Amino acid sequence: MLQYLTLPVTPFQQNCSLVWCDVTKDAAVIDPGGELPRLLAAVRERGLNLKAIWLTHAHIDHAGGTGQLAREQGLPIIGPHPGDQFWIAGLAQQSKMFGFPPAEGFTPDRWLEDGDTVQIGRETLAVRHCPGHTPGHVVFHSASARRAFVGDVLFAGSIGRTDFPGGNHQQLLDAIRERLWPMGDDTVFIPGHGPESSIGHERQHNPYVGGSGA
Ligand SMILES: [Zn+2]
Ligand SMILES: [Zn+2]
Repeated sequence: MLQYLTLPVTPFQQNCSLVWCDVTKDAAVIDPGGELPRLLAAVRERGLNLKAIWLTHAHIDHAGGTGQLAREQGLPIIGPHPGDQFWIAGLAQQSKMFGFPPAEGFTPDRWLEDGDTVQIGRETLAVRHCPGHTPGHVVFHSASARRAFVGDVLFAGSIGRTDFPGGNHQQLLDAIRERLWPMGDDTVFIPGHGPESSIGHERQHNPYVGGSGA
């Protein structure tokens, strides 16, 4: 079964998640925005073998620690979708703008497309492309664990901002309705910021995308 631990990192309290297979103890880190010593301590404490970095999108609070972590630990960088290439190229600029430590540059070892899968130990997660917050945003869905790691697409009671370059409000709404809702009402999602919620709860109550007419 897929296990996970969410560690809010950076001044933006970004929900970095450590996910692992409880049989092999192989682990991936989703969105290592920063605070790498804390993440590595969590890996060690649980006796996990960190094997990969998975990225939902390339905003600094999600991707800022990626280059350094990949280089120091020899990890492959998987994701996001190629639509976020310009955000990766702009990481140094983002660091300055938001007062983050300088982000090391990187090139993903594998870009992700809608319908791809990623594997950790014996666990397989489905990749869905959910543009709108950024053009190359992806989410990771474990159907067996009924969990989805959705970055800044959907939050408890809110949705991702779409006022950044490449943002698109309608695309975001479409992605949520077409690619998140079908995961099923009992699927719990881990958003990029704030508390977890379920697809069913947001589908009914989220004022931005749920409720009647959605
Ligand atoms: Zn973001
Ligand atoms: Zn974020």
